[in-house]
Amino acid sequence: MNTPIAMPSPIGKPTQKPQNVQKEDAMWLQKELINKNYMELATARANNRKVSATFVPGNLNELLMCFDFARSLPETNALQNGMRKKSGKMIMDAERDGQSEDVCTYVKADLGMMMGGEVGPTGDPLPRPDILLLSYTGCFTFMKWFELIRHKYGCETVMLHVPYQADGKITPSMRDYVVKQLKDTVIPTLERVSGVKFDIDRLRQYMRESVKAEEDLVHVLQSAKNRPSPIDGYFGAVYYIGPIFTAFRGTPQASEYYRVLRGEIDERVRLGKGPVTPDGDMGEEKYRLIVEGPPNWTSFRDFWKMFYEEGAVVVSSTYAKVGGLYDFGFRHDPERPLESLAEYCLGCYTNHSLPGRIDIICKYIEEYSADGLLINSIKSCNSFSAGQLLILREVERRTGKPAAFIETDLVDPRYFSAANVKNRLESYFQMIKQKRTSGLGAAAPAFIPIAAAS
Ligand code: SF4
Repeated sequence: MNTPIAMPSPIGKPTQKPQNVQKEDAMWLQKELINKNYMELATARANNRKVSATFVPGNLNELLMCFDFARSLPETNALQNGMRKKSGKMIMDAERDGQSEDVCTYVKADLGMMMGGEVGPTGDPLPRPDILLLSYTGCFTFMKWFELIRHKYGCETVMLHVPYQADGKITPSMRDYVVKQLKDTVIPTLERVSGVKFDIDRLRQYMRESVKAEEDLVHVLQSAKNRPSPIDGYFGAVYYIGPIFTAFRGTPQASEYYRVLRGEIDERVRLGKGPVTPDGDMGEEKYRLIVEGPPNWTSFRDFWKMFYEEGAVVVSSTYAKVGGLYDFGFRHDPERPLESLAEYCLGCYTNHSLPGRIDIICKYIEEYSADGLLINSIKSCNSFSAGQLLILREVERRTGKPAAFIETDLVDPRYFSAANVKNRLESYFQMIKQKRTSGLGAAAPAFIPIAAAS
């Protein structure tokens, strides 16, 4: 995989594999898909297509495809700008325009990008949306974000209100409430804006594709129960979740991507191999971790390296479930299309209560035979970060495994201090080692939370 190969892209734009980065073939295929979506957005106006924007958790991709929208996902745009080192300036532009330092940096990166004109992360045109579809799944910022865009650019908005899972379960009345909004408000609005009539059989067909991809994704994520784990369930999983969490769930391309990925991962299990990292196959697996919280994108590779250089693999993460908790059994159901869209939104990780999140993490620690929990607390993401210290203490108490806490940010390069994070991680790995040899259970949290920013 070291040789540069020109991969024919579906949009005719070849992607070169650089010589110094190692990726599985499926990772390259994933990149192709993401680029393809940016090209669809870039050519939307020329092709007379309307453009939608919607968030990853609770996204109704199959439904949007029924109306031929080109589909933009603002968080994905922000993280792509972060990985390309473009988000710092965008965030500062948004702050100069009046946004506070505490506002979610995805929001500021998005606003800063839009202030710079209709240009997306790839440098291709990114038209302003014709419709903002807000599936409200637990994060209040989602609502304020689209309010700001609507206010600034006058985009039409439609909101799907999804009740919070305060009691940790989905009741029939919660589901019916969401279905009613889909029928009475969301679908009529999408019909009017797009000029396309809704066809429920088209929705069913997309959902049949979704199920295939969901089955294969779960198989891949659960392969981390093997020793060694053939995947990294956080850094590597970011590539695996890309197509299904964005504009491709429900397409034959996504089904094909997950079929190829599953084959590659099964082969790694058969050969007893660990994950592929940017520097090649990971060496000996020494630590198995569960991670809670989104990654840092501006220093993504440096951050990952701090783990694989120490032999630490993330066997499962909550972030890899942010666009759907499929490993707990949910599948889109073509026989009950609107009901299953409602259940999908209700079941999103961001829509779960703190006790629900603690249960999920404890289950992962047990099922994946993990050594402990690492929380990457994101400075500007209140939705994830609020209550994480409580999660840490409760998970330690219930599992007896050591937990640790680091702090970074999503796409603000000012809040990633490599030396600080590395130092804390190394201490944490030492602590796991000591606890293994001494046989001690958990005591106090491994670190008091100190901002990683210097
Ligand atoms: S606060 Fe967190 S969950 Fe909410 S939009 Fe920002 S990154 Fe996403």
